[in-house]
Amino acid sequence: MDHPELRIPIRGDKFSLNVSVKALLHHRDTEFQTIDIYDTDTFGKALLLDGHIQFTSLDEHAYHESLVQIPLLNLPNAKRALVIGGGDGGVIRELCKHPSIERVDMVEIDPGVIEACKLALPELNAGAFEDSRVKVHVEDAFAFVKRAFEPYDLIVADSTDVYEDEEGGLSEALFTDEFYRDCLRLMTEDGLLVTQADNLVFCPYSLEGILSLFGRIFPKTGAYQGLVPSFGGFSGFAWASKGASLSPTLPALASDIPLRYLNETLYSFAFSSLSFN
Ligand code: SAM
Repeated sequence: MDHPELRIPIRGDKFSLNVSVKALLHHRDTEFQTIDIYDTDTFGKALLLDGHIQFTSLDEHAYHESLVQIPLLNLPNAKRALVIGGGDGGVIRELCKHPSIERVDMVEIDPGVIEACKLALPELNAGAFEDSRVKVHVEDAFAFVKRAFEPYDLIVADSTDVYEDEEGGLSEALFTDEFYRDCLRLMTEDGLLVTQADNLVFCPYSLEGILSLFGRIFPKTGAYQGLVPSFGGFSGFAWASKGASLSPTLPALASDIPLRYLNETLYSFAFSSLSFN
């Protein structure tokens, strides 16, 4: 039997993925957004928020390892981590792989995302929500960082994008100087901050914008890439610190951590330069 097709916009009307859908596993409207979890033929399960792709089971490990493990493998003594967004549980899963981590604060604005993903995608968090080191805060991360005072060794921003042609997005305040000034105050001297920065080939201006914002706030900044097919290929990530930087070769700690995507080649590739424009 033919399965119905679902069109997932990658860049508004300009570029989309057409996937055939076996089933809609979960649907709900929350006060913040519409949540859909589909089972698809090619990508496995896919989470969409307001119709925008958040990840698929086929390649989420490439996204989550790039986002979390590339900075965390550079911080062998990291104890405390802050996650901005990340309600699906993929980021906390990666953080919990590290025995040095003692405490993770995850700040997700929409409890509906956490519930929906626990129900329809339990394999994604791999038990991380039950890990005693993880504390979930259901609130706007913009307000949380304003009153928080813990020093964090790693801050991971895994929020939704601010979409072109859409005003008043949930995460708009998270892409501001004010938000990142608060993050800087919350970082240890050797700490790192990382954020996903959209697709490098089709919208390089997203990374450029984040790096220029970071340049106004943080003493040190940089970028790297990961291969995430469902996001249209080359995904950008931006990092910032008070002085720490990332090794261009795979840190030794990698041999102690279970990894599916990263190896010596893909870690080095993350820091190689790309030019499509
Ligand atoms: N991997 C994804 C991507 O590439 O865009 C991000 C996934 S994660 C599901 C994004 C989460 O950020 C969503 O669950 C959303 O509710 C959350 N979020 C958006 N704005 C937020 C805010 N202001 N404070 C806290 N969480 C927020």
